[in-house]
Amino acid sequence: MLSVAEALAQILHEARVAAPVERPLKDSLLHVLAAEVRSDSDSPPFDKALMDGYAVIAADLRPGGTRLEVIEEVTAGVVPQRLVESGKATRIMTGAPLPEGADAVIKVEETEIDGDPREVRILADSALPGQNLIRRGTNKRAGEIVVEAGTLLRAPELAALAEMGCHEVRIFPQPRVAVLATGDELVPIHSQPQPGQIRNSNETMLCAQIRQVGAIPVPLGIARDERSELAARIDAGLAADVLLLSGGVSAGVLDLVPSELQRAGVEQVFHKVNVKPGKPLWFGVLHQDERSKLVFGLPGNPVSSMVCFELFVRPALRRLLGVSSDEPRTLTARLTHSHSHSDDRPTYFPAAIDQTDDGLSVSLMNWHGSSDLQSTVGANGMVAFPPEPVEYAAGDPVSVIRWSSESS
Ligand code: AMP
Ligand code: MG
Repeated sequence: MLSVAEALAQILHEARVAAPVERPLKDSLLHVLAAEVRSDSDSPPFDKALMDGYAVIAADLRPGGTRLEVIEEVTAGVVPQRLVESGKATRIMTGAPLPEGADAVIKVEETEIDGDPREVRILADSALPGQNLIRRGTNKRAGEIVVEAGTLLRAPELAALAEMGCHEVRIFPQPRVAVLATGDELVPIHSQPQPGQIRNSNETMLCAQIRQVGAIPVPLGIARDERSELAARIDAGLAADVLLLSGGVSAGVLDLVPSELQRAGVEQVFHKVNVKPGKPLWFGVLHQDERSKLVFGLPGNPVSSMVCFELFVRPALRRLLGVSSDEPRTLTARLTHSHSHSDDRPTYFPAAIDQTDDGLSVSLMNWHGSSDLQSTVGANGMVAFPPEPVEYAAGDPVSVIRWSSESS
């Protein structure tokens, strides 16, 4: 049976990014930039006051206070007209350009006006050149890279691009990911299940996971365990870039998914991975045009589906999205409690990972196995246990993987 690493390598081998497109910046959140963007100007574009106060020549200040003639008032958006010479000052507001000649800004709290606003008393004994101002180009010089190609665009990157007037960007289109739940026992989540039935929670879960990666979920509802219905729904799902099925990939008499996928032209790459939960995972490819479509048959048990998504689907979607650097996925954390683990398969155990002063800590959820969604409420990752019996003491280091979150 394939290992997790071998299975992932086979998936990533098939995952290729689509051709980039031009989009308005405002529509490009959680897309990946396809071409680097360079600044069109210096940032800030002029020497700028960082405080409300007075622009002065620092060397003018004397201990015990200094009287200066106020020659002008500049507010943000206004260009100063007058040179600040020795003995003079300009009233200036935050964000306004620094007048020529001045080399420091004294904040208004350190000044006093004695009736006549044309004269200011600076109370500070001294000032340093450059105080309370930022020089043109300190943050970025014209022509420098603002955002590298392959970067996932979040609010900070969008803002930096907006600052540079980049209102159209070249990005990779987000893959559309169809989600098809299979199973005679499933009912929609708004229904009252009859005896033997359960709600289709996997659709909600997988669509949320897809969205968190930055791809577009296309929920297709429930297909019965019946060949013609499954075939029709699979055909509809293959219109998307990626098709995720849940259920029907084990060895039960109604596990029709692998054979129906193959009948639809999807070539099996592998079936079954040495992992717990998630062993029945099926993966195949529909070769079409220059880009193949990826098809995952996820095990129906909710936690198996969830874990398989994190281990296998998420990295594939990130590759399709065009993310260039893959984030470090496996981290080390210390167990908060002792735990005795024994399994002959590598096991991914739902857990709550926390940042502490001493690095990461991890608490195992009270997990009852692959159908136990309840124990995943509040979990933010999983511990990767090796396939051997180990007695862990509290404080022992273990490997952990964080789950998707919007900002990663
Ligand atoms: P299967 O992989 O089809 O054998 O399903 C394994 C288990 O997962 C069964 O107990 C199913 O009832 C359950 N299951 C399958 N699909 C879903 C779904 N969409 N939502 C919640 N549970 C499911
Ligand atoms: Mg089933």
